[in-house]
Amino acid sequence: METETCYMCDSVSTSVEHVPPKCLFPTHKDSGANYRVNLITVPSCEKHNGEKSRDDEFLMVSIAGIIGNNSIGYQHYNGKIQRALKRTSYKLLDKVFLKKQMSRVGEENEFLDILWGTPDYTRLISCFEHIAMGIYRHHFGKRFQGELKPYLGFLHTNEQNLKAFKEWMQLKANKELENQPKYGSNQEVFYYQYTVPDKFGIYLVRLCFYDNVDVYVAHMPVTSEKPSMLAMELLNRGIKTYVHEDGKVFEFN
Ligand SMILES: [Zn+2]
Repeated sequence: METETCYMCDSVSTSVEHVPPKCLFPTHKDSGANYRVNLITVPSCEKHNGEKSRDDEFLMVSIAGIIGNNSIGYQHYNGKIQRALKRTSYKLLDKVFLKKQMSRVGEENEFLDILWGTPDYTRLISCFEHIAMGIYRHHFGKRFQGELKPYLGFLHTNEQNLKAFKEWMQLKANKELENQPKYGSNQEVFYYQYTVPDKFGIYLVRLCFYDNVDVYVAHMPVTSEKPSMLAMELLNRGIKTYVHEDGKVFEFN
């Protein structure tokens, strides 16, 4: 048998890894339906498999409970995830949020407990980098070489500058993804799409969970030319920047 190399490094693979993690997909027992059809797996070395396993539960708790998810995400949150939280006496939540608070919204007998918090951003970014690497390996049959920049479209912010950036980014990404196929056998839980590379050789993958949690990961292959990213430069310098997109004007700073 031909030896395969890990989806993250050049080591020989010793196992397979689910991307995204299997625990995001509800079991038949929990959901009454099969959301584990043809789950995506990639070859992995021992080091990278072990590292990622620790992040799987963290990722599940971070994204399955997000408001706006479809009913599958919601059910999953109320079943498997609540069980996991209770089992760990809610200590698991401390690993997910750096700061958190529980709020109760609603009226009369219809209450909804909402968790607000500051997520462990660095750890989330690392999780989505790994998923993007895995999806690339699965889709193209080789390891991605270059730089990845995840953008977490599902995080909410009160900061005006970041809000405008998010709106602009989503409009732009959605336009580029409009006619691109959606891949994945359990699309209510997860699917992905790739954009066509731009003139610099840069493209995006969209990772979509529970019809709601969107993550865009920019891919800058080693062969790509880095664009000057004038708008980003201006943003970093704190100069008022206007970006025009589809007849709308977005103001930064
Ligand atoms: Zn590896």
